[in-house]
Amino acid sequence: MASRTLRIGLIPGDGIGREVIPAGRRILEALPKSLGLTFSFVDLEAGFETFQKTGVALPEKTVDTLKQECDGALFGAVSSPSTPTKGYSSPIVALRKRLDLYANVRPVKSVKNTTMFPDPIDLVIVRENTEDLYVKEEKTYDTENGKVAEAIKRISERASSRIATMAGDIALRRQRVRDSTGQTGKSANVTITHKSNVLSQTDGLFRSTAREALAHFQSQGVTVDEQIVDSMVYKLFRQPETYDVIVAPNLYGDILSDGAAALVGSLGLVPSANVGEGFAIGEPCHGSAPDIQGMNISNPIATLRSVALMLEFLNEEKAAAIIYKAVDANLEEGKFLSPDMGGQAKTTEVVEDILRRM
Ligand code: ATP
Ligand code: MG
Repeated sequence: MASRTLRIGLIPGDGIGREVIPAGRRILEALPKSLGLTFSFVDLEAGFETFQKTGVALPEKTVDTLKQECDGALFGAVSSPSTPTKGYSSPIVALRKRLDLYANVRPVKSVKNTTMFPDPIDLVIVRENTEDLYVKEEKTYDTENGKVAEAIKRISERASSRIATMAGDIALRRQRVRDSTGQTGKSANVTITHKSNVLSQTDGLFRSTAREALAHFQSQGVTVDEQIVDSMVYKLFRQPETYDVIVAPNLYGDILSDGAAALVGSLGLVPSANVGEGFAIGEPCHGSAPDIQGMNISNPIATLRSVALMLEFLNEEKAAAIIYKAVDANLEEGKFLSPDMGGQAKTTEVVEDILRRM
């Protein structure tokens, strides 16, 4: 069998990042040898502690190593200082820019016991990550009636097209996985979200470009629809089971992702990936959680699912499926749950249980 070695950068960052990223490494090392996959790891620094030690939050060495040596990476979390700190800015935001990781991908999936909804939730939000209001071009000026502040919302054809294409690819991959595991009942769909009834130029361009980019996926069995973002919020909270893939410009995607995470219980369950051409960084959605740091009670599942998600983008769907299945089985049985899930298991016990199932 063909064998492949993947080199993975490990960036634990701050707080519980230092507890969950080692769990991510263990899960990769535990994948069955029959997959023909091996991993090599490189430890890399970034975060607020790194900033306090060295004056830099994202060392150049970290960026260079990722660019030159790595196939993918895992990022834990970084603390944001409670008061603005001169010279400090978020290293993950900088990394997304430096590596052109233009998509933020957030799957939201319920397992029995983790949601109040009767029907299973299994959707993914694909958020554009480089433009929209987040270009941070703001200004404030004085007028006779007091101050006025303005921000630029920039939408481009290029960014809209590539994010929609990624959403189409993800929809196809999810369908492949459902077909190969005999899951029926859901078919590949991409919902484009926007507010083009009000913002006819910016969101209008996003909408029409996404439609165009998704057209050829339709011949491969992906249905495409669209929804105004406010009505999407309403339906997402009433019938989340109806969604498959949602593609959104930066701001709506940001808001929808956090909202959707709330549908399935703990922050400790929700993974994400920052994805560009041929590179992916898995990152749990939670922060550094200083309140539980060092207590061995953080939920490692968001990280373990982020590991699987990274593997999907490195075209290792089989390996990813093994991890997802073991995590779901742990949650369904409910014997080894961390305190945020109402259980009493330590981080390490949750990890051991999942490793046993693999
Ligand atoms: P940051 O500034 O790094 O975002 P934060 O104080 O906002 O830190 P978060 O990590 O965003 O903390 O978490 C919010 C709450 O959710 C905290 O009370 C934290 O304990 C809890 N939490 C977050 N992640 C986990 C996890 N993996 N397991 C258990 N509880 C978690
Ligand atoms: Mg936080």
